[in-house]
Amino acid sequence: MDNQALQTSAERERAVLARYAMFSNLSEGRRYQEPAHPYRSPFQRDRDRIVHSAAYRRLSGKMQVFTGDMGDYHRTRLTHTQEVASIARTMGRALRINEDLVEALALFHDIGHPPFGHAGEDALAECLADDGGFSHNQYALTIAEELETRHQSFPGLNLTREVLAGQASRVHKDVDGMCPLLEAQVVEAADSMTYDAHDLDDALQLGLVMLEEVQQQEMIRICVEMIEQQGVDLGPNQYRRALIHTMLDCQVTNVLENAGPFLAQSGWTSISDVRQSDYRIGTVGQLSDAKKEMEVFLYERVYRHPELIKTRERAQDQIHTLFDTFVANPDPLPKRFKKRIELIGLRRSVGDYIAGMTDRFFEQQFLGFVG
Ligand code: MG
Repeated sequence: MDNQALQTSAERERAVLARYAMFSNLSEGRRYQEPAHPYRSPFQRDRDRIVHSAAYRRLSGKMQVFTGDMGDYHRTRLTHTQEVASIARTMGRALRINEDLVEALALFHDIGHPPFGHAGEDALAECLADDGGFSHNQYALTIAEELETRHQSFPGLNLTREVLAGQASRVHKDVDGMCPLLEAQVVEAADSMTYDAHDLDDALQLGLVMLEEVQQQEMIRICVEMIEQQGVDLGPNQYRRALIHTMLDCQVTNVLENAGPFLAQSGWTSISDVRQSDYRIGTVGQLSDAKKEMEVFLYERVYRHPELIKTRERAQDQIHTLFDTFVANPDPLPKRFKKRIELIGLRRSVGDYIAGMTDRFFEQQFLGFVG
């Protein structure tokens, strides 16, 4: 390695980050102290710990909106996560905030999703209604702090407090009454623009909605105009891809054109200026209204599509049934979840076990223990 490669992360950050970014040498550290790494920043290490965790790998077996038996084109929870990370990093780099932290937060943001997406989450919340409820955002913290094992001397991934706080701000929107770091805000913005775009893409490709009805949407009218200005003749599949690409591109541009000048003129010189503000990064103006309209459309026409309602109801029934089966007889629970019964009670332990399952593993368990 030459000297250039040995430049410390602190030096790199000083050279490229804006003063309102989260500098890794100002991190509040980890719950269990560890020596600094010679060439990876604390947030790079967080990113690596997340990527190497079992929960992250299992995202490949968890549905986003459409189930595995509906085809192989659409997004899984893992590919959604990667798209969010890609878009969040683009925005983070352009705004000169900490891209390593952005990436760690993005790769982490959906790690707590149970099998069968929001249907699974709602069913577990019902099962645990008298035991503290269930939310995938909260469960991500349980995974990071209690369930994953990477070190003999402490539980969990021992992530930095900034990653844990960024995730906590997803659980309770005003967790400490302060504004989340810009790095967390960028991930939040990237998440919603990503799922709007890819859920629409998947729904069109699956034929659940038709291009003609989507074209009534203001967001699509804006994108169609931009595509037509390029004057290229596109086939139906290329047209769909161009629409989705344009939808993402114009939203990212909108965010950067507004947040960029705002931050440059903010006079903010530290994260405490960010934390004390009430600023939120996101799309603004006409595009923001168009985005809201698109989300209503997706809710009514895609997420509530009869095909998906059927899947949703079946998944919810099965989760209730397997949950009750394990509560009545916890013998099949793995040892470490049995051990957790003393700590957090039987029902929460069963909930934690089911929440970690992939869709396929859940189905195998259901067949094996319910039939
Ligand atoms: Mg997400």
